[in-house]
Amino acid sequence: MAGGAVTRFAPSPTGPLHLGHAYAALVAQQRAGDGRFLLRIEDIDRARCRAEYEQAIRDDLHWLGLRWPEPVLRQSDRLNIYAQATDKLLESGLAYACVCTRGDIRAALSAPQEGDPAIGPDGPVYPGTCRGRGHDPAQAAIRLDMRAAMARTGPLRFDETGPRHGGTHLRRAAEMIETVGDIVLSRRDFGTSYHLSVVIDDAAQGVTEVTRGEDLFAATAIHVLLQRLLGLPTPAYHHHRLIRDDQGKRLAKRDDARALAKYRAEGATPQDIRSLLGF
Ligand code: GLU
Repeated sequence: MAGGAVTRFAPSPTGPLHLGHAYAALVAQQRAGDGRFLLRIEDIDRARCRAEYEQAIRDDLHWLGLRWPEPVLRQSDRLNIYAQATDKLLESGLAYACVCTRGDIRAALSAPQEGDPAIGPDGPVYPGTCRGRGHDPAQAAIRLDMRAAMARTGPLRFDETGPRHGGTHLRRAAEMIETVGDIVLSRRDFGTSYHLSVVIDDAAQGVTEVTRGEDLFAATAIHVLLQRLLGLPTPAYHHHRLIRDDQGKRLAKRDDARALAKYRAEGATPQDIRSLLGF
């Protein structure tokens, strides 16, 4: 890769690393070429993240042979930065406060006139109940007003180089409104969201190519939109395949059988793991 890219591996410390994480980290390192590979700790979910998992992640990655600059960026240190971005979007009329519970949303979506709700990257598309209601943001989740946001940016474009979705992608307002809708930018309990933090941090860290699993491809249009709204650059994207178990199911954190620590304990070498994953 000419000049090298800045890439990152961005785990959430909510469980032990398994083979799928090792693959994601190795793809990111490989695609950095002679650029820079970064580690970022995505720990906005304070209820599920644990310091011991963070240490275990570092140990496993070190053992695999990965190195990164310290100190690493930890999202829990940056809640004020995410809050400033949310405020900016609220002030520009591109976001609004939402007091709906999950139950409220389910009930609104199951009303007979609604038909089958579209399922977006974050689940059922929000029916817009709180839009225009002027609720107090201090007590609420903050949602993006997708219609207002797309009117501000016009169609979105991004380049993807992964195996499944390679090419230039275009997303127009109608599609974003119907299939993504008013996604949550800031959860009441987190004070931010995955989408907002990831976009702000990729820009803050100068990431030039986002590499991650193809399960996150659908979220990418949301990220490109937020970049446009917040005046941040859009990196290149590379969504890689997911590592699956013998039954073809994608690995989850609870699949301890595929935990790297277990392979290590059974005497596997870093080279064994690399070969197993096709490196
Ligand atoms: N923290 C996310 C995860 O563990 C990855 C986010 C990203 O790469 O954009 O799945």
